[in-house]
Amino acid sequence: MVNSNIGCNVNECKYHAENQPLCTLNHIEVVKHKTPATCAECTDCASFEQRC
Ligand code: SF4
Repeated sequence: MVNSNIGCNVNECKYHAENQPLCTLNHIEVVKHKTPATCAECTDCASFEQRC
């Protein structure tokens, strides 16, 4: 089911809603790659899984 509260344009992810810029998960984990995180690029969706 599409979650209208989580916008996402990563359509390579198997959880992407495909025809809408949204995620289908109820919950995602967002992580940081740098401490302290200083920009958006320092963060990432850890719930991503590649679409087969
Ligand atoms: S799991 Fe993350 S990357 Fe995948 S569609 Fe949802 S928000 Fe986007």
